[in-house]
Amino acid sequence: MKKTIIIGSGLSGLSCAHYLDKKKFDVKIYEKESYLGGRVATEDVNGFKCDVGFQVLLNNYEEVKKIGVYDKLDLKYFNSGASIYNKNKNLNLYNPFYHPIKFLQSNLLKILTLSDMINLFRLFISSKLKEKKVGELFQNRFTNKSQKLFLNPFFKGIFLSKDLNTDTNFFLKIFKKFALGKASLPSNGMNILPKTIAENSKLDISFDSEVDKVKNNKVYFKNGETEVFDYLIIASPIHNISQMTEIDTKMDYNENKTIYLSSDKNRLNKSILLVSDDYETNSIQCLTNISKSYSSNNLNLYSLSSLNTKATDDKLINEFKEIMELDSKDISFVKSYTIKEALPASKTKIKSKKNIYFCGDWMEEPSIDGALKSGRKVANKLNQI
Ligand SMILES: Cc1cc2nc3c(=O)[nH]c(=O)nc-3n(C[C@H](O)[C@H](O)[C@H](O)COP(=O)(O)OP(=O)(O)OC[C@H]3O[C@@H](n4cnc5c(N)ncnc54)[C@H](O)[C@@H]3O)c2cc1C
Repeated sequence: MKKTIIIGSGLSGLSCAHYLDKKKFDVKIYEKESYLGGRVATEDVNGFKCDVGFQVLLNNYEEVKKIGVYDKLDLKYFNSGASIYNKNKNLNLYNPFYHPIKFLQSNLLKILTLSDMINLFRLFISSKLKEKKVGELFQNRFTNKSQKLFLNPFFKGIFLSKDLNTDTNFFLKIFKKFALGKASLPSNGMNILPKTIAENSKLDISFDSEVDKVKNNKVYFKNGETEVFDYLIIASPIHNISQMTEIDTKMDYNENKTIYLSSDKNRLNKSILLVSDDYETNSIQCLTNISKSYSSNNLNLYSLSSLNTKATDDKLINEFKEIMELDSKDISFVKSYTIKEALPASKTKIKSKKNIYFCGDWMEEPSIDGALKSGRKVANKLNQI
């Protein structure tokens, strides 16, 4: 048996551990935090479940299917489509694949022109685009109205990218996934996803074990302990790799700020409310309308997501009050998360070095599916040794 260490219990590390051949590899995961899941974390705050940064799980991710946990997550679904906050009146846009009649009856023509609809359909059947970046694609092919009301807030929110500097190949994949799938939350919070993978595969994880450095087949922990290894997989975000090894590597990350607020007033349905660029707020959702378990009392839990980590809580809460038409007395602050390194802004590769391998969303694509895939690919490579 080869002694195999994985650094990081995010989805990429868990996926790698899941797929490694346990007859060949004795696998142990070391995680610096006291919880597993990395960027897919959920915190209990005063009776509310707060995902550490609002995110959703699509029900048609290939890698989540492959790892076999969808049916254990008790998924609760958002409405397929979006609501759009537009000068005091919300417009609704339904997904034509799920709600063809509602799609036609909705505020369609207030959001999209006929040419926008044709261009969306063209994108749906495209496999490659001449434009390299999403911002350029939208500007070339869509009207200002559709960009402002729908395309910009929707896709900026998905890629957490203020300038939509995202690669169009990744865009095409995600656009089709959203069109054909549904956005959901596990009923008990996003962290149930990594937890279920770890429990199903009976993974051995040591928490509060921060790796300081890696040298000569040995891992040195911050607490002074050491472990030797035959194989090492570093499944951490890219900036942590340069801290642990002598590999000099850097990457820009897109950021996110998520604020949780509670209220006894229920202002939203099951849709994600998109907010235009005139505001610092990108989207608002009432999580308890999706899953009642996000609150253990009778209050509604809202999350507000912004792409600007410099926007103050006060500013965002004031926008929330304006958009939701609520007074200060109607809402209570629950929690605010500022995530500087939320999503890798691009993709890179670090080649394996002798017995040291790397995985993470930064190597594949910035998503749950990308992280799982990168871990599976490393495991497959090692299983062939
Ligand atoms: C705000 C936000 C919104 C998102 N929205 C979506 C979405 O809607 N849909 C979607 O598909 N994806 C979304 N994502 C992306 C998705 O969550 C990530 O791509 C994925 O979780 C990354 O997994 P990972 O394993 O690559 O990295 P991480 O989850 O970052 O895992 C790395 C792990 O390594 C550990 N670690 C680091 N250094 C050390 C060390 N020295 N010693 C020990 N352990 C260490 C970390 O603590 C962490 O647990 C979102 C992410 C964020 C933050």
